[in-house]
Amino acid sequence: MHRALLFVLSLVGSIAATGAETATFSKISWQPQVLVNGSACLFTVTVQGAPQKVTAKWLKRDIEFSHGVRGTWYALAGVAYEVKSGSYNLEFSATMPDGRVLREMRRVAVHAARYKTSRLTVPEKYVTPDPETLKRIEADKAVKAVAFAHQMPTPQWSGDFIAPVSTGMSEAYGTSRTFNGKLASVHRGEDFHAPMGTPVHASNSGEVVLARELFYEGNCVIIDHGLGFMTMYMHLSQFTVREGDKVEKDQVIALSGDTGRATGPHLHLAVRWNGEYLDPAKLFALKLPEQP
Ligand SMILES: [Zn+2]
Repeated sequence: MHRALLFVLSLVGSIAATGAETATFSKISWQPQVLVNGSACLFTVTVQGAPQKVTAKWLKRDIEFSHGVRGTWYALAGVAYEVKSGSYNLEFSATMPDGRVLREMRRVAVHAARYKTSRLTVPEKYVTPDPETLKRIEADKAVKAVAFAHQMPTPQWSGDFIAPVSTGMSEAYGTSRTFNGKLASVHRGEDFHAPMGTPVHASNSGEVVLARELFYEGNCVIIDHGLGFMTMYMHLSQFTVREGDKVEKDQVIALSGDTGRATGPHLHLAVRWNGEYLDPAKLFALKLPEQP
């Protein structure tokens, strides 16, 4: 009897605590309002009581929030191409100065994007690589794995991401493509028209974690923007930055070309978030905070 009463009391306590915790989190929002598979998104939340750290679990990944103005916290994140339409949990945790961890949850709807299909023809070696080339491709994977493992604990970007060239898109992200009538793959970046030698600009500030020639990507630059967010620029003819360089948004990092698996001169831009490739056009559309 006594025990049962205690149990009821502790239950009431936890309900009351949950009520208090809910008031801690407010103005939870995201951009864009409608998320689809392939979306880049910005989560924003206001947290009372000066938490030391705000994180969230989203699509099985841990995302870390950065401190904005007036108690706001924000995090750049995404929705992988493979995510099916449905409703997913966004689970916040805030670590308070006294060590308590407060939690809040939102259901976020993800809709199915409508992406296109296309057929392309490239030199046969890019579709059925010979054993020598397969070795090269494996070596490239190891080089990229090192670049992708690079970690920067704070956002290096500030404000909106910009298109790396002003010449317009030639093929959208998400297009289901067939190479030479047999190899099927999904286009995990955005292609831009870029006549040979067009200056390519950094989409945002960050650190160059790769600037070298790879088999499929050709001459490739990867910029780390912090907290698992990177941009990759492919098929370049010339580099104007080196690995380890810090770059500012809009700085020229390379000249465009047709190296690697390319049907002709163009720029392929990929946006990588924690191992997933997102739609660059959807990233450019976000209105992002300036870093303090
Ligand atoms: Zn492409």
